[in-house]
Amino acid sequence: MNIEQDELFSTWLVRAALAQGTDPLVLASHLWPGWRVCTIDLDRGVSEECATRLVQESGIQYDEFYSASFLPIAKAIGQEIRADRAIWYWFLALGSRNRKRHGGLQYCSHCLATDTRPYFRVQWRLAWHTCCAIHKICLRDRCWYCHMPIEPNRLSAQDLMSTCPSCKRDLRDAVMVPASASSLEFQEYADNVVITNSGFYGAHQLKTTEWFFLARYLLMLLRFTARNQTSNVRKCLASLLPSVSCLKPPITGLGFEMLPTSERANFLESVGVLIRTGPEHFRSAVLAHSLTGMSLRQGWQILPQYIHDIVQEIPQLARSRSTNIAVVSAPKSKQTVLYKWARLQRKIRRFP
Ligand SMILES: [Zn+2]
Ligand SMILES: [Zn+2]
Repeated sequence: MNIEQDELFSTWLVRAALAQGTDPLVLASHLWPGWRVCTIDLDRGVSEECATRLVQESGIQYDEFYSASFLPIAKAIGQEIRADRAIWYWFLALGSRNRKRHGGLQYCSHCLATDTRPYFRVQWRLAWHTCCAIHKICLRDRCWYCHMPIEPNRLSAQDLMSTCPSCKRDLRDAVMVPASASSLEFQEYADNVVITNSGFYGAHQLKTTEWFFLARYLLMLLRFTARNQTSNVRKCLASLLPSVSCLKPPITGLGFEMLPTSERANFLESVGVLIRTGPEHFRSAVLAHSLTGMSLRQGWQILPQYIHDIVQEIPQLARSRSTNIAVVSAPKSKQTVLYKWARLQRKIRRFP
């Protein structure tokens, strides 16, 4: 069975199994006996031995499997290729537990509906992808009916590729929600940075790895401001981008690669504006709000170059304040309780 254009490796394997009338797990154990494939993220690439066996059995060249994995994009954006890392930056995390997943895969119902043979795209696992560029609609990361994660790995031999394994509804029946122009714009720009091996911060050209590092830094800063609504950093960013005042912290407080599509889209829209604004305006805002190096670092040892240069210009610490405050065991804030509740919901996989 051919790999379709941009098809995701792990779901190609499922599609190949279903086409042969067998369960994905049965095919995987035939290919790689004794290997617990359900516990690993196959899209991060497989070992040479496993790849060799796959090439022998399928007749498909290794290059095609390589292109269907995360590896080409991970290398382009500077993600370290390490299997032991729970999170690969910019790649949605599956959060696997046995065969069950917490998330990690999105879909466009219109793409699936118009495919001759429905298949999942590599792009649907990228964290900066929140919409379908072809149909201009929001991607979904849950079954439209039962709200369970998208888990083609749990399909059975008699299922269609577009079936939700939990409720057996067809993902192609999802209602389409128009994508926001700014999230689509960020997504297409980031894609272009990968393709052309360069991007811009204001008027300054950066290499792809630097650009994604800067975007990740700004994401971190925006998430900090969303959690700390009275902070100077928030006031500083809001002076550049008024919509920062409306940013709400993610309900779960999870890593960016584990957030629902809509929450990621909100942050990415703001990152896009800050990147377009450029370092000169950012520097002016930092100086105007008397930010410190510590508040810009937020614990990061290494900073993107332009941010590093700004940090070098400003005081590293705020003037000392009285620390004579008794630390008592205060009641937990409403936000903390909501975080804990949402994490529990994710554990039982019903979120949102
Ligand atoms: Zn589509
Ligand atoms: Zn479902």
